[in-house]
Amino acid sequence: MLTSSSRVEISVVIPLHNEEPNIDYLFERLVQALTSLDLSYEIICINDGSRDRTLDKLIAHHHRNAAIKVISLSRNFGKEIAMTAGLDHAIGNAAVLIDADLQDPPELIGELVAKWREGYDMVYATRRSRQDESWLKRLTAEGFYSVIGRISQIPIPANTGDFRLLDRRVIEALKQLPERTRFMKGLFSWVGFKQTSVMFDRPQRHKGETSWNYWKLWNFALDGITSFSLLPLKIWSYVGGVLSFLAFLYASFLVIRTLVSGVDVPGYASIMVAILFLGGIQLVTLGFLGEYLGRVYEEVKGRPLYLVRETYGVASDRSTPAGTSHPMSETPIR
Ligand code: UDP
Ligand code: MG
Repeated sequence: MLTSSSRVEISVVIPLHNEEPNIDYLFERLVQALTSLDLSYEIICINDGSRDRTLDKLIAHHHRNAAIKVISLSRNFGKEIAMTAGLDHAIGNAAVLIDADLQDPPELIGELVAKWREGYDMVYATRRSRQDESWLKRLTAEGFYSVIGRISQIPIPANTGDFRLLDRRVIEALKQLPERTRFMKGLFSWVGFKQTSVMFDRPQRHKGETSWNYWKLWNFALDGITSFSLLPLKIWSYVGGVLSFLAFLYASFLVIRTLVSGVDVPGYASIMVAILFLGGIQLVTLGFLGEYLGRVYEEVKGRPLYLVRETYGVASDRSTPAGTSHPMSETPIR
């Protein structure tokens, strides 16, 4: 390893999953933007199990420019984990997380760095509008941010992706969070520190296709909500309480009516409604229990977050998070 940590100011961390057509243009714009800022940098690319020639292209770029470093994970672990792997290996005084498809304009890094130099620990880029997205995506995104904004204990800024600058202090704090379900948007808010935002217009993907479909987004939303709120778990005691109270009133009414006007056999409709309604509620409750229990199970298994297959230009001993040691510390995992 030639670069010492004090000499790298900014580590740019890029997760890549099947981004072959974007790589050349990405580095062209990124390197230009970084050079114009006149600071020392490294670019950490995490190949997240790409099935195209992403890795070959990254390695070729690494040979041309040693500041471009490559970590190739053993399979696809998802963007959140890929970013975590990048942050684990970053040696800069600050890190910038950026998408590979140029939806996060590299030219904005200058603004992020300027705010950082003003003394902020985290500078995130918030998009001005979502006008260019489909109505369904806009509607679901709005729904998600309003739900999580209401039920999460910590505020999570709306319309803010992962494009942001993190000071070394924040990186070290994030490294101490051991959870497997890594909802980064929430973790960024959870760590706190001095945060600010800059506004930007998010362009369309340069080339290729998004890896997110609505099913993935739904599960992502569930991850976010279950990681940052216990409300879906706790609400059922109140629902149950209210229903029991209503049932008690109705039962009293039935008893009194039977005493006053004798036995009354017809009652099929009310019985069916009660059975179906309560059965439905019980299944929903069980489902929510399952959502949390499944995540608890994932955490308890304690598997490493990711496995690295190969690295180029990265010191693998950097991978162990501060303050912890891993039994398999020879392999670059945490
Ligand atoms: N990505 C990744 N692993 C995945 C999916 C996506 O590393 O499993 C990367 C992807 O290569 C890109 C970034 O995450 O750099 C954002 O992905 P995408 O553009 O598909 O998401 P969107 O912009 O549609 O939210
Ligand atoms: Mg994108």
